[in-house]
Order: sequence, then structure tokens, then C-alpha cells
Amino acid sequence: MTKVGFIGLGVMGTPMAAHLAGAGHDVSGFDLSADALAKLTAAGGRAAADVADAVAEADVVITMLPDHPQVEQVVLAPGGVLDAVKPGTLLADMSTIRPETSIAVAKAGALKGIRVLDAPVSGGQAGAEQAALSIMVGGEADDFEAARPLFEALGKTIVHVGPHGAGQVVKAANQLVVGGIYGLVAEAIVLLEASGVDAGTGLDVLAGGLAGSRILELKRKSMVARQFQPGFRIDLHHKDMGIALAAARQADVALPMTGLVAQLVAAGRAMGYGSLDHSALLKVVEGVSGR
Ligand code: NAD
Repeated sequence: MTKVGFIGLGVMGTPMAAHLAGAGHDVSGFDLSADALAKLTAAGGRAAADVADAVAEADVVITMLPDHPQVEQVVLAPGGVLDAVKPGTLLADMSTIRPETSIAVAKAGALKGIRVLDAPVSGGQAGAEQAALSIMVGGEADDFEAARPLFEALGKTIVHVGPHGAGQVVKAANQLVVGGIYGLVAEAIVLLEASGVDAGTGLDVLAGGLAGSRILELKRKSMVARQFQPGFRIDLHHKDMGIALAAARQADVALPMTGLVAQLVAAGRAMGYGSLDHSALLKVVEGVSGR
């Protein structure tokens, strides 16, 4: 049994914290939302009064927050995680944020004797609910091994990918692939429907061939039915495309298709779809075809 402090109980954090509590760990969680705290209590965790209360006794702290400003606030600000935990505590930030913030958090943690991993995830809400996430971890190998039993309660593919920040670079690569596939599935639907072919039937065939993917498997029916409740919001994917393009600039490489997909995602946000699921890229592609 590990004492876990869990900060950020949203779409992803709520089922993840519930799995840890269900696996017998002692989970204290905090979120700004009272509803989220009630769900944690219902799942067998303890609703803490604030960040410090959630993490003070923890052996491992997990953060699952929207973006780097929230991670900086929760972890680095006075009264945050690094102030409140015991020396030797392990912090696994599972949020998707820019690699340089992960590296800065790891350095700040090291100054206080706190071990830090960046451990972003892929698999979406379904992956979180089914404890089937892919977890890509940057940091020291022995810290990864220490955290592995907790990760195993959350995911199926759990890989140490390199030093601090490397987990976030792998996640950026994941997000540009996911965005590209959504864009192309959207284009396939628009083409099929405009040509008078049933899109659901057409995508069923695609899903069984070389074009098959988890996105086609999980999302083709909801996309054809125009069901876009998140899931993963376009706003968050916009953030992730920005991370991918910044990482490309840092690595001095050109990612032309990623640039195009980033603009489609930005258009979705500008068109007012930011709070819809990222599969709502279909609405953007329909828009540019006048449909
Ligand atoms: P979310 O917005 O549903 O959840 C974030 C939670 O953090 C919210 O409940 C919010 O109240 C809480 N929060 C924000 N600031 C806080 C603070 N200062 N103190 C305490 N709590 C605070 O987001 P999500 O979809 O769960 O995503 C979380 C992270 O995981 C993001 O970085 C996202 O990019 C990544 N991610 C999401 C998915 C997905 O399918 N939703 C998949 C993979 C990765």
C-alpha cells in the first residue's frame, strides 16, 4: 500500500485516482471542483482541503492537470507540492505539458530532495477508465522502477523513454499522429458523404484494412453520428499541437503536416468548438468544403 497524493481530478484524473484507490492504495486527492472531490470519496479516496493537505503524508504524488501554468502553480508556487512533501517523495507529473517545464520541475525537485518523473499518457478517457493507458516516462531509471507498480494500476504499455522531458517529447509525437489521423478520418467522411456513399459502411471497411487504427476502431461511429462530447477537448489538443511545434523548433526540424494539422485544430477553436471532443475536427473539414 502506497500513500498517494493526487492533484487534478478531471476527465482523466478521476478514473485514475479511483483505480489507485481500488488497488488498495491510500489516495488523498485535491481538485478545485467539489464534484470531482465527491467522486474521489465515492471511489474510496480522501478529499483533501488543499494541495498541501493532499500531499503532506504522500510517498508518491501524481499530478494530472491541464497545462504548464497549472503544474507550475500546484508544484512550484509557495505552499505547493515541493513545499509540502517530505524529502524523498516521488512526484509523477502525468499532465501533458511542454518538455522544458518538466525539466524545470525536475531541477526544482532535485534541489529539495524530491524525485520527479514526467509521465504523460495516451489512451483517452476510455484508456483511463479501463486502466489501459500508454504511459511514457522521462526521468531517472530507478525512479521509474519505483513508480512502476502504481503505473501498472493505470496502464498497460508503460515505458521509460529517456531523461527528464523525454516523456513529454514522446507525448508530443503521439499528439501530432493522433491529430493527423483525426484530420484524415474527417476528410474520408466528407468525401464519402459528398459522393453519396454511406460513411459508416465505408469506415467499417477502412477499419479492417491497412488504414485501420484505434481512432477508427473507437471513434468512427460517434464521428459519423456527429457526437462530439469530450473526451479530449479541442482546446487541449490545440495546446498539444503548440507543444509539438515548439519541440520541433527546439530540435531544429520541420514538421509540415503537423503545421497543417495545428492550423486545423486552431480553426476548430476559433470556430467555437474548443470545448468539443477533438474528433470535432470533422466540423472544420466540413466547413472548408462548405458542407
Ligand atoms: P480536465 O480539464 O478534465 O481536468 C483537469 C483538472 O485539473 C480539473 O478537474 C481542474 O479542476 C483541475 N485543476 C486545474 N487547476 C487546478 C489547481 N490549481 N489545483 C487543483 N486542481 C486543478 O483535463 P483532462 O482531460 O483530465 O486532462 C488532464 C491532462 O491529461 C491534460 O494535460 C491533458 O492534455 C492530458 N490528457 C488528456 C486526455 C483526455 O482524453 N482527456 C488524454 C491524454 C492526456
